Amino acid sequence: MTDHISSSNFSPTHFDTHQLNNDKFNDECGVFGVFATPEASTHTVLGLHALQHRGQEAAGIVSQADGQFYSHKSLGHVADNFNTKPVIESLPGDSAIGHVRYSTSGGTGLRNVQPLFADLARGGFAVCHNGNLTNALTLKKQLVNKGAIFQSTSDSEVVIHLIATSTYPILQDKFIDAMRRVEGAFAFVALSQDCLIGARDPLGVRPLVIGKLPHDGYIFASETCALDIIGADFIRDVEPGEVVTVTKEGMTSVKPFPLSNPRPCIFEHVYFSRPDSLTNGTSVYKVRKNIGKELAKECKLDADLVVPVPDSGVPAAIGYAQEANIPFELGIIRNHYVGRTFIEPSDTIRHLGVKLKHNANRGELEGKIVVLVDDSIVRGTTSVKIVDLVRQAGAKEVHLYIASPPTTNPCFYGVDTPDKDKLLASRMSLEEMAKHIGADSLKFISIDGLYRAVGENGRNNLIPQYCDACFSGEYPTQLTDNNASDDDKQFSLLTDSH
Ligand code: AMP
Repeated sequence: MTDHISSSNFSPTHFDTHQLNNDKFNDECGVFGVFATPEASTHTVLGLHALQHRGQEAAGIVSQADGQFYSHKSLGHVADNFNTKPVIESLPGDSAIGHVRYSTSGGTGLRNVQPLFADLARGGFAVCHNGNLTNALTLKKQLVNKGAIFQSTSDSEVVIHLIATSTYPILQDKFIDAMRRVEGAFAFVALSQDCLIGARDPLGVRPLVIGKLPHDGYIFASETCALDIIGADFIRDVEPGEVVTVTKEGMTSVKPFPLSNPRPCIFEHVYFSRPDSLTNGTSVYKVRKNIGKELAKECKLDADLVVPVPDSGVPAAIGYAQEANIPFELGIIRNHYVGRTFIEPSDTIRHLGVKLKHNANRGELEGKIVVLVDDSIVRGTTSVKIVDLVRQAGAKEVHLYIASPPTTNPCFYGVDTPDKDKLLASRMSLEEMAKHIGADSLKFISIDGLYRAVGENGRNNLIPQYCDACFSGEYPTQLTDNNASDDDKQFSLLTDSH
């Protein structure tokens, strides 16, 4: 769906109204933006394609040419929906921003697909967001009480309203004013007719990097892999609490928040980022291998074989095998053509044991004592299936080693973890989990081991160097919405379902 969204013709009729009741107030996503570059939308398509792992549900791009804004949004993958000349031609101009979205359970509607766009007093403004604002519902209530009309259930729309109602005269200051009122985790990329803005929350929970194309043109992206795909140089990370503005005159930066100790998300290293990216300047692949090495130091076993759960367990399994000096084999093969949109088989077919995503490489497993390495256990569904698969293929013993500590707490900062009562490690002891999964033994790396793998001496328990709330339960910001009164929660339910 492509729209020319100049001031005159932007209207809510562009939204898909069939899904209005199903959206949750939570996303994990990838963001990208490019300024002053010919073929800005093509660069954005490529950048989003590299960030596809951060969200497969929907994608959107807004471009800008001579003060006019153009938008194309669709459900599904970037490569399937931004692959034609007419689509690219419908997004003209030398600047653009884009977003890939992964909605949590429940459907998604086009109305929540970003970038969001608004006609502000001084011209068009588009914004996209990775992260989750922990006071968005509270702010939304205040704004609605003052007459604001929301068109999506995305927490990011709160920012648009805060900018629109800010009394500061200049757009950058309105944006900063809005940023100061939100809590939680954010990496924002925003576009006006004369600037591109990249901003990271004061703790730097979600990543955002700056790149530059060989001749000209600055870029913001969630990960460095989105720079590599278009041959852009990695300049540096947007620092925690930094707001960077790019105009035709160049790049300027301010740090408008009170100083705090950075707490980037440690789960980006464990699972979320692509292994070929640099997160906070460190190779994600190297860190994942280090996690495997630390795991091997902590949990030794006289095994025949180290086998990764592909793809997410591969680097840690390589590290484990190298450190433990045990052969590494691909004992499980992954089918890469199974997307999130694959139709789930009926119960009858499922009971036949259809293995959509993974199959055992039987010849490698028969009669072997296997250390199976995966990155994390969330609900435990994957582990049950995989351990059974390896055992059915003839392995003598199956020991499941996990390259992160037990996930015992939900994330409120934009990673899709289910409620606490659905997290296996919050429901069961280690022995109960091993029994439930059917593994001969189950081990998790310690939290200090994980911190050593990212280059620290261990976790500083007084001032932790990372956000590790999913493992520790220590949330580094207020959780205003979560602690809201039942009345307020009722309000949010009502406003969510309109
Ligand atoms: P399960 O324990 O069945 O819920 O799934 C755990 C697996 O899902 C892990 O091994 C990861 O590969 C993957 N995973 C972990 N966190 C997430 C997430 N936030 N979104 C999607 N997949 C995830």
